[in-house]
Amino acid sequence: MYYESTRNNKLKKRFSEVLLLGLAEDGGLFIPKKWPKVSKKELFKFKNMNYQQIAFHISKKFIENEINDKDLKKIIAKSFKNFSKKSIATCKDLKNNKWILELFHGPTLAFKDYALQVVGNLFEHVLKKEKKRITIIGATSGDTGSAAINACKNKSTMELFIFHPYKKVSNIQRRLMTTVKSKNIHNIAIRGNFDDCQKIIKKLFVDEGLKNKFYFSAINSINWARILFQLIYYFYCVSKINVKNEKFIFSVPSGNFGNVYSGYVAKKIGLPIDKLIIATNENDVLSTFTNNGYIKLKNVKQTISPSMDIQLPSNLERFIYDLFRKNNKLVIDQLDKLYKNKKIYISKNKIKQIQKYFKSSRVNEKNTLLIIQEFFYKNKIILDPHTAVGVAAEREKRIKNKPVIYISTAHPAKFPETIAKAIKKKINLPKKYKSLLKLKENYKIINLNYNKIKNYLINESKFVKNV
Ligand SMILES: *Cc1c(COP(=O)(O)O)cnc(C)c1O
Repeated sequence: MYYESTRNNKLKKRFSEVLLLGLAEDGGLFIPKKWPKVSKKELFKFKNMNYQQIAFHISKKFIENEINDKDLKKIIAKSFKNFSKKSIATCKDLKNNKWILELFHGPTLAFKDYALQVVGNLFEHVLKKEKKRITIIGATSGDTGSAAINACKNKSTMELFIFHPYKKVSNIQRRLMTTVKSKNIHNIAIRGNFDDCQKIIKKLFVDEGLKNKFYFSAINSINWARILFQLIYYFYCVSKINVKNEKFIFSVPSGNFGNVYSGYVAKKIGLPIDKLIIATNENDVLSTFTNNGYIKLKNVKQTISPSMDIQLPSNLERFIYDLFRKNNKLVIDQLDKLYKNKKIYISKNKIKQIQKYFKSSRVNEKNTLLIIQEFFYKNKIILDPHTAVGVAAEREKRIKNKPVIYISTAHPAKFPETIAKAIKKKINLPKKYKSLLKLKENYKIINLNYNKIKNYLINESKFVKNV
């Protein structure tokens, strides 16, 4: 299996190259040249497989012989060792043809652990084999950072610089990053918003002055390996539900378009999905795109679902690439318009094509809080605010007589203030995390100044010093 870039369909890269590079040299995102297929028969076999076995079976189709079976199995086993549930993910029956897929049993209590734990170990495996070291730079709107840090801490082949927007992530989200004691981890708070952080990352990547100093890699959801390992829970959940000959609706709380894009790939390769609901908060770029065929970039609005406070969803380029039938020139044209004029419009015909796969709804804070309340009284389940956006969006779009799966992306205890506001209850973190609020934090606050940030990286990097 080879991979091309959304900006160059002649490119031919292997899985380990795609993994280490993150972003293609031309600035595009990697995508497989051909979609493999999962047959009905294979789907049926998943019924009797556990999460790790399904992960092996599906990822093998995309990795092929780049990593041998024995090593890949080991990597997967190691990656899910620190999850609090033996089943890894839980798919709870809510009755009335609805389920909730809970993806917060990993070490940092959000769905990002499901792919990042594997990605960290894949990185280590490939780096050791190729005798390389890399510097991972990443921006986080709250949960990616801690999941990446947890996945890469104490690994000698990599160092991590994680940027978060200063005072714009929750207390617990920040502490899950800044209290990790490991020499290869650097936390940086930027006085700006998430999109500012993401822009800095993009600039660092292409900075000629850094090319001979760092071997950069990305760990945010533009990395193909993350998309790949997010496929697994879609397959896992459907295979554990006893519904025959039906196509499922997934409702997915969305920001960077990573999770729901994995759902799109799952559908492409054979999972019976009817529609994917892209649930957004008031940062509604993905909703206006899906419903009306345009994007107008505005300033990021801070909401009670901070991990979705994003205006420019980086994975959208992957979908736009399909929408324009792999025509690199048209894709680059569209992106240019988006970056320069902050807006794009697409044709009616293309809107129809989007709506073949997706529906979307924008949910405000008031409705998010109401859903948390209602869900608690009805189902005795406390939803985190991101998941609540997903449930509310499905309510609004209501597609009749289809089985619905809500993806629950974070543990509610990560957002205690919002939960207290919604249901007047104090929610505690799982026991394991009791010390989190007392541990010493370690992070550097830097103004939104590119050169300052760049110099900080050069001065702090152990790999730069040791070249
Ligand atoms: C990252 C995140 C999202 C958004 O996922 P994308 O892949 O960026 O669309 C939603 N909810 C939570 C809790 C998250 O951490």
